[in-house]
This record gives sequence, structure tokens and C-alpha cells, in this order.
Amino acid sequence: RIAYVNGRYVPHRDAMVHVEDRGYQFADGVYEVCEVHEGRLVDETRHLDRLDRSLRELRIASPMGRAQLTTVMRETVARNRVRNGLVYVQVTRGVARRDHPFPDPAPRPALVVTAKWTDRSGLDKLAARGIGVITVPENRWARPDIKSIGLLPNVLVKQQAREAGAREAWYVDRDGMVTEGGSSNAWIVTTDGRIVTRRADNAILKGVTRAGVIDLLGRRNLQLEERAFTVAEAKAASEAFITSASNLVVPVVTIDGEKVGDGTPGPVALSLRAGLHEVTEMSRPV
Ligand code: PMP
Repeated sequence: RIAYVNGRYVPHRDAMVHVEDRGYQFADGVYEVCEVHEGRLVDETRHLDRLDRSLRELRIASPMGRAQLTTVMRETVARNRVRNGLVYVQVTRGVARRDHPFPDPAPRPALVVTAKWTDRSGLDKLAARGIGVITVPENRWARPDIKSIGLLPNVLVKQQAREAGAREAWYVDRDGMVTEGGSSNAWIVTTDGRIVTRRADNAILKGVTRAGVIDLLGRRNLQLEERAFTVAEAKAASEAFITSASNLVVPVVTIDGEKVGDGTPGPVALSLRAGLHEVTEMSRPV
């Protein structure tokens, strides 16, 4: 495997960042995970728009222009011969002597790009079975809309989910409303067929896959309700599902061990999964 690190393509095992990188010391950085489908980057524009926004919010300079970054992403995919998988892009504020405020003058932001294969048939099998989620108290900072590499709260709840035999954890805010998953957006389908996901305010990450599903709903003339829902409403829903670039649409069949609907993957979730790539932007083959 090959990784891109600060201007060079290097063997993955030799891909290193400096011990004084602010990403390493302060989680002072942001990232994107973009799907590669049949050798094409999926929704590259939305991912790069969101990356720009995350960088702006944290006042980190862009490591390079968009055209150049696009080239690096493609080149990394190509060098790893990835047909179906993910590209990971990480930008940190750079290397500086450890001190909390922004270094002055600003260092060159550090850029890392990696690409990997994913097991498509494994993911499809997972989706065909459906997954369990647990609910956990929201304990993240107030800006989950920024795709920061500071993921410790996410790491902890994903591990908690795993130990509970589940695949995802849904954060629940102080009003009892689901915000999102540890690494995905949260959705339900009500018993009267309405499709519900939380409005993308500062409380959640505005998922690229979420946007794709919203496009798909529009194309199919299905009604979207952008609003928060409670855990009780989700447990009583006819379906639930999650969305993320790495898993696309995955049905949720249990919440805290209680069955959603009849406890099998719902038809709406499965059909959205099947149709998603009809509406997503696809790059030229890399
Ligand atoms: N919320 C969180 C906290 C995430 O980590 C992710 C995955 N990056 C998502 C939502 C889904 O976003 P996307 O569809 O862009 O992958």
C-alpha cells in the first residue's frame, strides 16, 4: 500500500507524521472519508465542500488547491488499485512546538491521504442482516458539525456498542432526542411511512450520504421530515437505518436490544441502499 504524506507518496508502513504534529498532540485537525465505487470517487464535491468548511471553521489553511487535492486523492486511489473502498483525507494545523494557541507564524498544514479496499460483499451481507444500535448520552463537544479528528467520545461509544453486541451507538441529547450515531447519521421510517432524520444543525455532522438519500427521496417523490425524534419514537417506528460513506444505508433491526418493526431489515432502507448510487455524483474512473 501507498500513502500520501506531506507532498510524497510513500510505502504505507513508512507513512509517518512528526511527533509535534498538532493533530497528534491536540487533535487539531479535520478529515474526510470518501467512498470509491467501481473505481470512481463518490460525491467528491460534497466531501471537498465539507472539508473546506471544517477547515474554515477551525481557521486551518487549505493544504493545497481543490484541483490539486483532487489529483492527490485520485492518485492515491490509483496507486493502491482501489476499485471499491474508501479514501481518507486528513488535514492538521501542522507541526509546531507544543503550545495550545495557534502557532504564529502558522505552520504549513499537514496533509495525509490514504486509500483502502473494503469488503463489499461483507458490507452487503451486514446490510441484509441489519444491525443493532445502543443509545448513549450525548457527551461530545458542541460542534459535531465540524468533522474534527477529535474522536475519543466516538471511539468510546463504538467500543461500548461492540461490547453490547451492537454495531452503532446513537447519541441522545438532554431533551431525549437522538442526534446521530458514533460514525453515521440516524433515520427512522414512521408507521405511516414518513422518513425522518434530524435537521443538520450544529448538533450533527451533515452527512454526505444523508444528502444523497435526501436527493433520492426527492427523485422518488418520498416525503422527508427533517426533525429530531426520541428513542421511544425510534423503537416504535416501522424501520430505522443509518447512513455513512463507509456503510451507505444500513437497516437497524434492534435498538437497545428491542426489535424495530418485525426485527428484520425494512423495505424502505433496503430500497434506498439499492438506489443510492443512482443519484450520487460519480467522478471519472481513476
Ligand atoms: N456522523 C458522524 C459522527 C460520522 O462520523 C459520519 C461518518 N463520517 C457521519 C455522520 C456520516 O457522514 P457521511 O455520510 O458523510 O460519511
